[in-house]
Amino acid sequence: MSYNLSFLDEEKICPKCQGKLSCCEAPPIHVGDGLGWGSEVLFICLNDACPTFLNGWDQIEKRYGHHASYRYMELPGSKEGNFMMVGNSDAFKGCVIDREILKAQNERFVREKAAVEGMKTCVAEKNLAPVMTLLLDEAATTDARKSAVTYLIKLNDTACIDPLRNHKFRDTAFEHEVNLAIQAILKANFKQECPHCLEIIKAQAKKCLHCKENL
Ligand SMILES: [Zn+2]
Ligand SMILES: [Zn+2]
Repeated sequence: MSYNLSFLDEEKICPKCQGKLSCCEAPPIHVGDGLGWGSEVLFICLNDACPTFLNGWDQIEKRYGHHASYRYMELPGSKEGNFMMVGNSDAFKGCVIDREILKAQNERFVREKAAVEGMKTCVAEKNLAPVMTLLLDEAATTDARKSAVTYLIKLNDTACIDPLRNHKFRDTAFEHEVNLAIQAILKANFKQECPHCLEIIKAQAKKCLHCKENL
């Protein structure tokens, strides 16, 4: 996937009213409309006091004899002004995109992709980071997280245990897989978790070093 996401940071001002243009989802293309706008999003002035919108009613009434007006519009990455015909003042107001949410989703997606890539070399580099990114990201794909569990065992690094124990897994079957991996790592490192305080201690300890409880 290589969408052009520069619209996420683009700020545009309406030259007619100096108001901020709203980033809206482009309307679906109907057969016969040709290629449409060629963009997923449109920047539209949704200011009801914008002169383009206020004067549009009269202009369209005189020219075409029907009840509609215009909204000022620009395509992302372009300064060229266009006019969208609208039948009422609510048109497009329900299509405004929450760019903060989209941006966060995109950043998460980019992080996931980098982590999947990073897993390929994580064992050679003894790098737990990409594996942990995927295990702690509930939105990452199941496939990526499952292969992260296998890398977790290969890495055999007890530093993974605390953050995994502190994470709330939504999928209990997956949480069980992670727990089994933790058990395998503890065993391979001759360690155990104290059943009283959950601190990691030596497998052969008779008394916990942390909470002093007998085992
Ligand atoms: Zn305007
Ligand atoms: Zn203890």
